[in-house]
Amino acid sequence: MKFNTKLIHGYPVIDKETGAASIPLYQTSTFHQNDIDQGQPFTYSRFGNPTRDALEKGIAAIETGGTHGFAFASGMAAITTVLLSFSKGDHLVMCQNIYGGTFQLVQEVFPRFGIEVTFVDETNLAAWQEAIQANTKAFYLETPSNPLLSITDIEGVAGIAKQNQLTTIMDGTFMTPQLQEPLTLGVDVVIHSATKFLNGHSDVIAGLVVTNNNTWAETLHTNQKVFGGILGTEDCWLVLRGMKTMGLRMAQSTKSAQAIAELLENHPKVNRVYYPGLPSHPGYATHKKQAKNGGAVLSFELADGQAARNFFNATTVPITAVSLGGVESILSYPVTMSHACVPENERLAQGITDGLIRLSVGIEDTEDLLHDLQQALNTI
Ligand SMILES: *Cc1c(COP(=O)(O)O)cnc(C)c1O
Repeated sequence: MKFNTKLIHGYPVIDKETGAASIPLYQTSTFHQNDIDQGQPFTYSRFGNPTRDALEKGIAAIETGGTHGFAFASGMAAITTVLLSFSKGDHLVMCQNIYGGTFQLVQEVFPRFGIEVTFVDETNLAAWQEAIQANTKAFYLETPSNPLLSITDIEGVAGIAKQNQLTTIMDGTFMTPQLQEPLTLGVDVVIHSATKFLNGHSDVIAGLVVTNNNTWAETLHTNQKVFGGILGTEDCWLVLRGMKTMGLRMAQSTKSAQAIAELLENHPKVNRVYYPGLPSHPGYATHKKQAKNGGAVLSFELADGQAARNFFNATTVPITAVSLGGVESILSYPVTMSHACVPENERLAQGITDGLIRLSVGIEDTEDLLHDLQQALNTI
């Protein structure tokens, strides 16, 4: 089954009890038990709920190579539940360009739990190898990274992990299961903020995890139950609905993103474009090998903070907001949004300059987006 068909038919999309073409919202906390000695599939909604079960089977089906899926109240709940599977004394190696919430978790909270982390330049495979210690348990990566879209060689990192009996965990939010297939490249656990492209409508906060490893599946099942950070029934239903159109949404968004990146790259008011679908991107060859296209997120740099402000004021189609992956295009300003807490010198050293803008490309008509961005650039 190809991807778009799988999104519609590849998992339990029809209610077993009634034949309803949309899995109903099983809005219940508990389930009547006919016989107190007989087990039954559902007993209490934190342990399992039919609507959540459909979503969890759904994500396991569309993440190529996946066997077990788990739904959480947010991407961060998913990440925390995965990472709190490690123990006091364990060491993790992580990419240095990492989602801000994950960074804060491992930097501010993990020291209290005795879980140690080393950050490496994710684009350098030797750095991953060199960071391994006797107590290293896992590699954790994100590719492309946010907001500068640096590219990590997934198969390369997972290969080093395998040689050293380490688990590889990957945040796959930016590329979705549609554009990148980490489990087929050796990753063991894939995490998605379903808040973004999977749900796709900027109306739900949700996280999903997929694995093909039975030991991890058992651990995650227990942790999901005892930490309790499950995704609520109504939000499961919304993600199930949003997911069905992801194929079409991503096709439109990525087509526009490529056209926009090409326009910006050749525009005199733009210093620099970060988009892994451009041959000028340093990670282009690696990305091309492991992903279907450049994705729907790009960043670009204008002259300075004033130029960025003028640009935000002049655009009329995208909304200005944090987050990404919605049907509407979203412009973000890392300096005052995602990286507001990062000290200026550190932020500049990372390449997050005052002129940097991130664009998550929605499903509007490509021509309208190109026209709007062009007219906004003309005002600066
Ligand atoms: C948004 C995001 C998260 C966190 O997800 P929430 O749903 O906001 O908790 C994690 N990783 C990446 C790459 C993200 O973009």
